[in-house]
Amino acid sequence: MYFNENTYIYFDGKFVKADEAKVNLYLQTLHYGYGVFEGIRSYSTNSGTKIFKAEEHYRRLQQSCSLMNIPFDYSTKELVDITYEVLSKNNFSDAYIRPLVLCSPNMSLTKAHHSMLLIAAWEWNSYLGNKLLDIKISSFCRPHPRSIKVEAKACGHYVNSILAVNEAKENGYDEALLLDHEGWLAEGPGANLFFEKDGHLYTPQTGNLLPGITRATVFEICSQLDIVYEEGQYLPADLYNADAAFYCGTGAEIVGINSVDGKILGKEWNETNSAHIQKRYLQLVREMDVHKKLKTA
Ligand code: PMP
Repeated sequence: MYFNENTYIYFDGKFVKADEAKVNLYLQTLHYGYGVFEGIRSYSTNSGTKIFKAEEHYRRLQQSCSLMNIPFDYSTKELVDITYEVLSKNNFSDAYIRPLVLCSPNMSLTKAHHSMLLIAAWEWNSYLGNKLLDIKISSFCRPHPRSIKVEAKACGHYVNSILAVNEAKENGYDEALLLDHEGWLAEGPGANLFFEKDGHLYTPQTGNLLPGITRATVFEICSQLDIVYEEGQYLPADLYNADAAFYCGTGAEIVGINSVDGKILGKEWNETNSAHIQKRYLQLVREMDVHKKLKTA
């Protein structure tokens, strides 16, 4: 599904075939979830294949390593160049890119002394689909900020997300929404939340969520479109009374929300500022000239 016999990955310093790569079964990451990763997208644009906000993603990967005390020596430029090479070797344009920093074999709970980098890519549509979502507030809350490093995109944090998604799907919903430990709206299992009321956009403030690169892009789009936005602490009732809402993330892109806990949101999606933002986002990722051009060999 994610690779075939022709797929190349970058792994531990080399470009290798995905089906020939071997990992040690005693990696600390495999046993304890002690590793970090990124989710990045490349798009086909008029001027070639462009990775959207590659530097931002790789700076976050470096920051995640440093928050988790994982040694990691790659520069942002090296990482971006390797990623374009992975795309080029696989002949990919519209792709999802998954860098993963794995920690060396170690069965004790001490910090990592050595790490290995994997960069894989595959062709993947928006991971939440394109239809408006029916979501449910989860019985699971986001991890307490004193239990983990909230701003690190660490593998183990995603057990919380998997539990929340499964619960929502078992109850017939498309996706979960997690509150923080105090009951404020936080984020989706793999995406940030925005909601709209009277044309203004609102999003939960940082502190108990992963500050997404797409979330920051939505702020930029709001400024360009003269849409007022605000970060703050909001309650489920604020969302139930919203005109519209959406999830945003690199994998999900921007996907509208139809209902929360069975309550249908106030406005027709196409009549909202949120729908304008969604359109603008897709234009931006396909055309923006801050992207780096695909290196040709
Ligand atoms: N929150 C969580 C928990 C996520 O996994 C993601 C996806 N990386 C996001 C938010 C959105 O982040 P980004 O826009 O940087 O992809």
